Amino acid sequence: MKQNSMPTQQTAPTITYTVDCLEPGRHVYHVTLDLAGLTPGAHRLDMAVWTPGSYEVVDYARHVFDMQAFDGHAEALALRKIAKSTWEFDAPTTSASIRYSVYAFELGTSTSHLDDSHAYWNGANLFFCVDQRPDLPVEIHVRAPAGWYASTGLTPDSDDPWHFHADNFDILLDSPVEVGTHRRYTFMVDQKVHTVAIWGSGNQDDEKLVADTRTIVETQAAMFGGLPYEHYTFIFHLAARGTGGLEHLNSTTCGFDRQAFRPWKRYRRALYLIAHEFFHLWNVKRIHPDMLGPFDYSQEVYTHLLWAMEGFTDYYALLSLRRSGLYTVKDYLEEVAEALKAYERQPGRYVMSLARSSFDTWLGEYRRGPDAPNRRISYYLKGSLVGIALDLEIRRRTQGQRSLDDVLCRLFERYGHHGQGFPESVYQETAEEVAGGSLAEFFGRYIEGVDELRLDEWLADAGLAVDRVTKNEELHQQDPEDEPPNPDEPPTSDPPLAWLGVETRDEESRLLVRVAYDPGPAAGQLYPEDELVALDDVRLLDGKGLEDRLRINYAPGDVVEIALFRRGQLLRRRVTLGDAPPNDYKIRRVKDPTPAQRALYAGWMGEDWPTPKQDG
Ligand SMILES: [Zn+2]
Repeated sequence: MKQNSMPTQQTAPTITYTVDCLEPGRHVYHVTLDLAGLTPGAHRLDMAVWTPGSYEVVDYARHVFDMQAFDGHAEALALRKIAKSTWEFDAPTTSASIRYSVYAFELGTSTSHLDDSHAYWNGANLFFCVDQRPDLPVEIHVRAPAGWYASTGLTPDSDDPWHFHADNFDILLDSPVEVGTHRRYTFMVDQKVHTVAIWGSGNQDDEKLVADTRTIVETQAAMFGGLPYEHYTFIFHLAARGTGGLEHLNSTTCGFDRQAFRPWKRYRRALYLIAHEFFHLWNVKRIHPDMLGPFDYSQEVYTHLLWAMEGFTDYYALLSLRRSGLYTVKDYLEEVAEALKAYERQPGRYVMSLARSSFDTWLGEYRRGPDAPNRRISYYLKGSLVGIALDLEIRRRTQGQRSLDDVLCRLFERYGHHGQGFPESVYQETAEEVAGGSLAEFFGRYIEGVDELRLDEWLADAGLAVDRVTKNEELHQQDPEDEPPNPDEPPTSDPPLAWLGVETRDEESRLLVRVAYDPGPAAGQLYPEDELVALDDVRLLDGKGLEDRLRINYAPGDVVEIALFRRGQLLRRRVTLGDAPPNDYKIRRVKDPTPAQRALYAGWMGEDWPTPKQDG
């Protein structure tokens, strides 16, 4: 919210919230907002419509009910709702008390949840900005069931663990609170206390999770030369559904699937989420364009730089895991290969630029419809690949003397460290300064434009090659005795596989089209939500069955007839099968690297080029 258009204020009111979680089973927070030092007259309360880090208008006011205003003698005051998220009340004296309830049964990182196992809130769900004065400090008291305790980035009062202080509205909204009987662990890095609060359990090993979290903190702190906070809190939610996280100045909330911690390939993704959210404490929370702080919480804010804020955070999440030793080079390159495969699968990369994808996040990133792969590109996905390219570009141009690290560190020192945003043009200028020359072509082609990002060109400078092959599992299952492939040799492709050009989903024994790739064999013939029932008159049962039959019985160029239900009507459509895109991406070291390739590889991967084994 901005500081303008308010009636003249002689004095600033003091703001005290009391959050009551004593009825957890009803999922309702009872909140009291006590105001003192008011100027008699009309006053205004605004609730945020979005929360930073989640670029989506969600209108938190929809969960607010039973709102009443009282004066210092418990006499009711006039209260009016004047917009979807805005209330106004009349205070005849200098104090007022606003009481309201908030329904909280949405488990997420930017939402709020209250049940008999815990209370969790993201401040945007519970608190109002008073009189459009986001600069005012706020006191918060919490009332919770006996035996519960709180973990949050807010600092508690030294003699009351239920009393917290926030310097301003931004801090209040930026400090989610976990209350309950969660498991709490602490460790020190750089003489700062780090708390890990874990709610729920699954196949995790708490001790290992905390130790690995600490390793992430140490590795990323080393890149920036320290930690810019007094204390930091990790809130981990282990629940039934998928993963997601939200970043804050000195805390994060990460939601994991209970089973996300074993085997290694799943745990690898869990570590990536922690590394991503933690890295944000620099990148986006402190290093950010002007528009991303202080925030206007009443409407969408626009930036062309989310590819740097989110994509580069993704890049450094993986790279810091490599540098920390938690990922091997193989783990790292497997993750990059997966990202590259996902990127090259999407025709939308030729339609939407990274700058546009960032600007239009409000329209698409959180509302990905069935056409998204054809018309959009994710600034996370392409942004992370551009991060690799730009890092390797700088390393090559400077003979490994500088890297993308220097760009982020300079932006932090010049702006983030002082709590300042920067004009958008500063990003390219700083990258050029570090690279020692123009990057106009790079930015023009890959950020403002939609040129194909051939990552191979940059990886080659580090002695790495990308192999894109088509693998037909059927052929390999028959030869379990096959020799394992030599990682330094290019793999061979199996014969081309037939491709229908759709992504499907199975829903209640029905096989539905999720995406019809355009361009693609089925473009114009099959639509999203078509229920596919038969392939050449033989019934289709599920996505796996469709895939198996295409792989075993058909070849590219064959014409198939698909029977389908569209809006309840039975139709038949003929499709000429195409060549399946490569389904197996691998990044391997080249056979005879030059000294320059070895050096770039070692600088980037933080590990020398492996020496060949002497004996066989
Ligand atoms: Zn992020």
